[in-house]
Amino acid sequence: MRLTMGAALLSVRRSHQVNRERGAEHDRPNAIVSETPASRGPDVLVVGGGSAGLCAAIAARRSGASVRLVEWAPAALRGGNTRHARNFRLMHDRPTRYVPDSYSEDAFFKDLLRVTGGATDERLARVLIHCSATIAPWLESHGVRLQDPASGAMPYSKRTAFFLGGGKAMINALYMTAAKLGVRIGYDSEVVALAFGDGPDCEADILHDGRIDRIAAKTMVLCSGGHQANIGWLRESFGAAADGFMIRGTPYVTGSILRLLLDAGVKPAGDPSRAHMVAVDARGPKFDGGIVTRITAIPHGIVVDRDGRRFHDEGEDARKTHFARWGARIAECPGQIAWLILDAEGFERALPTALPPVRADTITVLATSLGLDPATLETTIKDFNAATDTSNDVPLIERCTQGLTPPKSRAAVALAVPPFAAYPLRPGITFTHFGVTVDDHLRLMKNDGRPARNMFAAGMIMAANVLGDGYLAGLGVTLSTVYGRLAGEEAARVALSDEPESGS
Ligand SMILES: Cc1cc2nc3c(=O)[nH]c(=O)nc-3n(C[C@H](O)[C@H](O)[C@H](O)COP(=O)(O)OP(=O)(O)OC[C@H]3O[C@@H](n4cnc5c(N)ncnc54)[C@H](O)[C@@H]3O)c2cc1C
Repeated sequence: MRLTMGAALLSVRRSHQVNRERGAEHDRPNAIVSETPASRGPDVLVVGGGSAGLCAAIAARRSGASVRLVEWAPAALRGGNTRHARNFRLMHDRPTRYVPDSYSEDAFFKDLLRVTGGATDERLARVLIHCSATIAPWLESHGVRLQDPASGAMPYSKRTAFFLGGGKAMINALYMTAAKLGVRIGYDSEVVALAFGDGPDCEADILHDGRIDRIAAKTMVLCSGGHQANIGWLRESFGAAADGFMIRGTPYVTGSILRLLLDAGVKPAGDPSRAHMVAVDARGPKFDGGIVTRITAIPHGIVVDRDGRRFHDEGEDARKTHFARWGARIAECPGQIAWLILDAEGFERALPTALPPVRADTITVLATSLGLDPATLETTIKDFNAATDTSNDVPLIERCTQGLTPPKSRAAVALAVPPFAAYPLRPGITFTHFGVTVDDHLRLMKNDGRPARNMFAAGMIMAANVLGDGYLAGLGVTLSTVYGRLAGEEAARVALSDEPESGS
């Protein structure tokens, strides 16, 4: 496919218009479009400065290519969703300084099959798992520091390694390394149009400081994430409910690049109506709340909708990750809002939260402060308490309700001890299972079944090839670092080779 520069300019305007129509959070001022031909850019242009983009940029530079990285966010907000991450998943056959025990290729692959229900490209998944075995030392050699599990600071995990200082520290280290290696980095720089085809170069229009400049590069690596921060686009799949979603990560991942690629005939992967959502505190920020707004105490109380009624078994899943199942449930509630109600003893058992709960000495006062009907909430709690097992012979975690619909199948203890506490809950979206299709070399695949010659993708923009559904803790960063590194190496190899590659 060849978008002429005329067509590329057209796609700039179309992208602006489409984003406005879809209600993207960022409306751009009228930009001055450069009328000069594309300036000679780097061998490899990397779009997006999260972990995929940084790993691609570093790997391409280490392979000998000149590299430019453009990041839409300002420097203070650089790093996309990766800023919020804590750990990543890796295969290993023996304990190391940063991960105990072992985690085999087969165990990793089985876990992936289980959560995706088979919605995974096995060849790409095997590449991911194999290369995860070397990603930790590679990251460390580029300045990233990992936690020693023996310090006891993080939860025990034989499947994932934790960043010392979290994703923010990891991102800062990679930016520093990239800059030292000579990667040219531009912030506040949004790619608003792309042109690629049979010719030797691909081109990007970059909006910076109210001006659009056109850059030609030999190859490009697209690492701009999915489209979870674009409420308008989410509305297409989730209807008006999308207005009630919180976006757990950066507002800059609007899918603008994804849209340009799909409009240009790149083959989609995954399903835009599938998303990873968790229960978050409704009082947190609309964007970028990160991990601290998660509400992790659901098994210790009951959850009611805005009518003051329970709607699901709060004890069904008492694992640490139970809140990840509640995002989708709350998304189906009227107004996409629900409340977790605890008594003083349940509150004692819960982990601390970023924001304090709403508290009251009686259910009537609590309901009134929450805007719920006091009589209905009182009836809900009375019925719940009457159905709980009051014998002390059964351990708390094993107690379940009798004759109640929906039941509470674990930790069903009466809510009887004041003061009572409540958290308002909303669905917080982490990412969508939707992006572009890539081949084994991480080249973009087109609808006509051919790979693009010089366009590569890594990270969440192509994650749906492997993660068509569900989630495994730590997989997001593994996907972005492993594929980012590989895509950077491939992009450099093509850029520095004199031989034309197959594809168009
Ligand atoms: C709250 C939260 C916690 C998480 N915790 C974990 C965890 O512990 N472990 C884990 O494995 N995963 C975690 N994840 C998921 C993980 O963060 C992502 O899967 C991963 O970081 C994605 O990396 P990426 O580089 O593909 O995308 P991102 O890190 O999102 O980077 C995309 C970048 O592209 C830029 N961009 C977008 N459009 C343009 C454009 N048009 N022009 C220029 N730049 C553009 C954005 O500004 C952004 O910086 C978490 C996610 C969230 C939201």
